[in-house]
Amino acid sequence: MSLLSSILILFMAYIINDVNVNSVKDLLVETVKTNVNEIDYTDSGLVLSNDFKYHTNGVSTLIYSANNTLLVGQVPVGFDSVPDFENGQIKSIDIGGSRYLIVDFRISFNFEADYWVRGVIELANPFHISGNVIKAALITVPVFVILMGIGTYLILKRSFKPLYKTIETADSISEAKDLKGRIDTKDSNKEFNDLRNSYNKMLGRLEASFDREKRFVSDASHELRTPISIIQGACEYSIRYEDTYEEKVETIAIISRQSNKISRLISQLLNITRLDRDDVKLDFKNSDLSELVNSICKDYEVTCKVEDGLTAHIDETLISVLISNLIENAVKYGNGQEVIVEAYGRDDEIIIKVEDNGIGIGEEDLHKIWDRFYQVDLSRNNNSAGLGLSMVKRIAEIHQGYLTVESELNKGSKFFFHLKKISC
Ligand code: ADP
Repeated sequence: MSLLSSILILFMAYIINDVNVNSVKDLLVETVKTNVNEIDYTDSGLVLSNDFKYHTNGVSTLIYSANNTLLVGQVPVGFDSVPDFENGQIKSIDIGGSRYLIVDFRISFNFEADYWVRGVIELANPFHISGNVIKAALITVPVFVILMGIGTYLILKRSFKPLYKTIETADSISEAKDLKGRIDTKDSNKEFNDLRNSYNKMLGRLEASFDREKRFVSDASHELRTPISIIQGACEYSIRYEDTYEEKVETIAIISRQSNKISRLISQLLNITRLDRDDVKLDFKNSDLSELVNSICKDYEVTCKVEDGLTAHIDETLISVLISNLIENAVKYGNGQEVIVEAYGRDDEIIIKVEDNGIGIGEEDLHKIWDRFYQVDLSRNNNSAGLGLSMVKRIAEIHQGYLTVESELNKGSKFFFHLKKISC
């Protein structure tokens, strides 16, 4: 502000000086021209009317003969030289530390007599003018800068108040380690409200993600604890009570089944975590989906109706996992009835449908089956952990596809995987 004010003052001083010089020039020319009109010539010589002003408005009017002899007027004190005459020219002349403006007009009477009328005015020292401006500025600028400073400080303090409040709340949330807290969005302006809303949204997402993580860890521990308890119980029972070889073989079979379950669970958990963290190396390419679906169907020995020439931009390994999971579920919950896999194109989509005529899913459970560890009925299958469909859903998302399901209890289920035909 101080710098800007100084530049402004210097500029103003320059302009004022310039304006002053121009107005003095006008005054000089005007005064001398008026006096010229008051000069006449008779046989006896020059005649000046009563309105001729020898010295007015700071302008001294002098009349010289053609040979530069001063005839009329009094030269200003200090103006002690006679510069050359030039008709109609305004000249600036420095004499003895002062600056003068002069203008000359040549007048002739009947070609007999030539005279020079000269106007002289002393210019005020430009530094005096600028100095006055600067003196005034030296008093006003600091006052102006102080007032501006105080005003700016008050305005900023007032407008940053909501920000300090936001920081305070954020700190208290972080100290309390409680992500449930939210920042009050009532009394602030739009910008801060937007910031607070975004912050609250971020807190909401963090809270949901921490909750999911917590649930995941506790569900995973629970799922792992069950087979481990069974193994521990079987071992203790065998040590205490089992004597025969047959009994021990039966216990070992239980232990083997449960360890297989643990191993499957751990690898599923690992896969899901990797997919979630985008920690899986993806190998997307344009692939022949018809061929892939056909080969998976052959492995599971299920009925297959696949349109030829379906191509999509996919990671073949992940899509194989997705289709295999859907088929395994259809077989698992299919009551031993026929499982049909179809693949066909519709508009810009490819749809892979896995259909069974098994136990189906009740309407109240349909939206929950995609959640981790969700099992409709634990007695349905105690060999799985409810992780398959959540992994299937994640794979669909990675391919920018989506899943839908139609199911009726005791009639069967149809799972649809929708995928863009080609998205390079
Ligand atoms: P799981 O490993 O237990 O099968 P999923 O995530 O694959 O876990 O499936 C979640 C739940 O959805 C299953 O427990 C099952 O009850 C139900 N479900 C999945 N597929 C079918 C199906 N084809 N028919 C009936 N129920 C199914």
